[in-house]
Amino acid sequence: MFERLTGPHIAELLWHLPTDIIDRSFQPTIAEAPPGRIATLTVKVETHEKPHNPRQPYRVRCRDGSGTIDLVFFHAKGDYLERALPLKSTRLVSGKVERFHGQAQMTHPDHILDPAAPEKMRLIEPVYGLTAGLTLRVVQKAIDAAVRRAPELPEWCDADYLRRQGWAAWRASLETSHNPQKIEDTFPDAKPRERLAFDELLANQLAIAVMRGMTRKLPGRAIKPKGELRAKVMAQLPFKLTGAQLNALAEISADMAAPSRMLRLLQGDVGSGKTVVALLAMLDAVEAGGQTALMAPTEILARQHLATLTKLTEGANVEIALLTGREKGRARETVLEGLSGGRIGIAIGTQALFQDQVEFKDLALAVIDEQHRFGVEQRVALSDKGRGVDILVMTATPIPRTLLLTSYGDLDASRLDEKPAGRQKIATSTLPIERIAEIETAVKRALTKGAKIYWICPLVEESEDSDLKAAEERFTELKALFGAKVGLVHGRMKGPERDKAMAEFSGGGIDLLVATTVIEVGVDVRDATIMVIEHAERFGLAQLHQLRGRIGRGDKPSACLLLYTPPLTETAKARLSILRESEDGFRIAEEDLRLRGPGEVLGTRQSGEQQFRIADLAIHGDLLAAAGDDARLILARDPELETPRGTALRTLLYLFERDAAVRYLRSG
Ligand code: ADP
Ligand code: MG
Repeated sequence: MFERLTGPHIAELLWHLPTDIIDRSFQPTIAEAPPGRIATLTVKVETHEKPHNPRQPYRVRCRDGSGTIDLVFFHAKGDYLERALPLKSTRLVSGKVERFHGQAQMTHPDHILDPAAPEKMRLIEPVYGLTAGLTLRVVQKAIDAAVRRAPELPEWCDADYLRRQGWAAWRASLETSHNPQKIEDTFPDAKPRERLAFDELLANQLAIAVMRGMTRKLPGRAIKPKGELRAKVMAQLPFKLTGAQLNALAEISADMAAPSRMLRLLQGDVGSGKTVVALLAMLDAVEAGGQTALMAPTEILARQHLATLTKLTEGANVEIALLTGREKGRARETVLEGLSGGRIGIAIGTQALFQDQVEFKDLALAVIDEQHRFGVEQRVALSDKGRGVDILVMTATPIPRTLLLTSYGDLDASRLDEKPAGRQKIATSTLPIERIAEIETAVKRALTKGAKIYWICPLVEESEDSDLKAAEERFTELKALFGAKVGLVHGRMKGPERDKAMAEFSGGGIDLLVATTVIEVGVDVRDATIMVIEHAERFGLAQLHQLRGRIGRGDKPSACLLLYTPPLTETAKARLSILRESEDGFRIAEEDLRLRGPGEVLGTRQSGEQQFRIADLAIHGDLLAAAGDDARLILARDPELETPRGTALRTLLYLFERDAAVRYLRSG
C-alpha cells in the first residue's frame, strides 16, 4: 500500500498542487538583462568585496562577455559565499536583476549553481501556497522529494476512459502537475490536474457507494408499529401538521417499515418544523420496541431538543435522556445504564452519543440534526451502534445536487417546502452602522412593549479573542442603556452559564440577548421577534438566513435589522438586497452558491472541513457525474474490490484517506 511505503502525511504533500510558476528560462547576457525581471545568468566570479562593517553588504563581482554584475548579500556568511562562489569559477545565478547607478546587481540570488554539478536548476519553478513559517524553497523541496518517491501504482481508471480523456497514468500526472512549464499548467482544467481531480472524486464516490452498498445489504429491520404512541402525541400537539410534514412523515414511515435500511435526508427551511417530524418517527421506532438517538451539532441545541421533546411527549410515557460532553459522573452513568439496559427510548446528545462507551440495547433509528457538521465516518460510527439502524439526516441548508452527491451518493430526500400556517413575514432592513443610535432607540421602544430581541455580533476578526471582545463591549454598552434585562452568550462560555442565559431568554429575566454565532443553528425561542445583526456584510447569505430564521417563529410580526459597515461592494449590496426581498431559503441558497461558491454554502469554510483538495466542483462537475457512474459500475461488477482493478482501487481509497470504506469490504 502506498500509505505504508511513504507514511501517512506524504499524500498530503502530493495533493498540494502549485498555484503559479516562476519562470527562470530567460537567459540573457548581463547587458541584455532588463531591471526588475527574473533572469538566469551564466557568469564568471571576479572578486569578493567583504563589508567593512556589518551594515554594509557583501559584494561579489561577476562578469560575462557583455559586462559586470554585483551579487549583493546582506548579513552574509563570508565562508559560505567563498565556497558557493569561488574566484574564477563559472556559476549559474538566478534572481531578479536590478540596476543601481548604472551598475547591474542581483540581491540575494534565488539560486547559485555550478553548471558542471549534477544538480540542475529548474528553469520553471512551481509556486505553492504557503502556511506560516515555511518558505517556498522548503515546501518545494519537501514536495519534490515526495513526488519523486511516489511509486508507480497499478492503474485504477478504466483504460478506455483514460484514452478518451487523453489522460496519463497517475504518477505521470502527478509529476507533470508539480512541474508546470507554463502558467496554464497550473489551471484546474490542465489534463494532468483533471486526472488527479477525477481520482479524488472517484475515491469519494466509491467510498460513498461502498458504504451505501453495505447499508443496503446489511439486514435492516421492518419497523411497523400500530402507531398508537405517535397518534397520542399528535393529538396533543399545539398545532396541526402541515401537508409537507405529513408527506415527509409518510415517506419516512414507508422507509422504516421496509426491511432495508433507511438513509433519508429531511430538508426543510429554518422554521419549517423538522423536529416534530423527527419526533414522530422516533416514537414509531420506540413503539416497535427499539431505541432512538437524536444527534445535534451543539450542546445548546441538544438541550433545547430535550426541553422541546419532553414537553411534546408529556404523558406518553417515553423516557428521554440527554448525553453530551457535559454529563459527568453519576448522571452520566445513569444515562449509559439506561441506554444499555434499553430503558431510555429517546437519547438526545452531541457527538458524545457515538463514543465507544455508549452502548444501546437496541438502537433502531438515528436522527442527525443539521448534518453538515458531521462527516460520513461519524455517521457510520453511529449506525454501528445498532443493528440495521435507520438514519434520518435533517438539514435546513438546501444542499445543491452536486454537493449532495459528494456527501451521500444518491440518497432519498424529503422536503418540507411549506411553512407552518400563521407565520408572519419578517420585515428585513439594512442600515449602516453609523445609524446604530436610531436602532437603539427603536430597540428601547420595543423592549418596553415586551419584545424579545437577539443582537448578533458575528465572527469578524481572525482571532476568537477579539471577536469575543466585540460582543462583550456591545453587551456592556447595551446593558448600560437598557439595564438588567440584557444577557450575553458566546462560544467560550462554560456550558451551565450558557444554558442559564438561554433559559432566561426563553423563559424570563433576559429580554435582549447579545450573542456570537453560537445561536446560529436551530435555536427555538418562539416569541423572539427582533434580530439585530452586526457586520451583516461579512456573512454568507445562507448563514444570515439561518440566523434570521430564529425570529418569526410565532404568530407575531418580526423584524430583522442588518447592520453593515460601509462602503459596500456591488456584490455585497446585491447579496443584502436578496435577503430583504426573499425569505425563501432555496432561492437564497442558489444566489449564495452563485455569489460565493459551494464551500461557503455548506458552511464547510466555517467548520474547517474542506471536502476536496484537488477537485473544484464548480469546474469539475462533469467529472463528478462520471466518477459516480464509474463507482456504481465498478461495484456492480466487483462488489468486494477483489479483481486486479479492484485492488488498485483500494489503493486509491487509501491515497485519499477513505480507509473507512475499505474496512467495510472483506479484508483483502
Ligand atoms: P426547524 O425545521 O427549523 O428545525 P423547528 O422544528 O424548530 O424548525 O420548528 C420551528 C417552530 O415551529 C417550533 O416552535 C415548532 O414547534 C413549530 N412548528 C412545527 N410544526 C408546526 C406546525 N405544523 N404548525 C405550527 N407550528 C409548528
Ligand atoms: Mg431544527
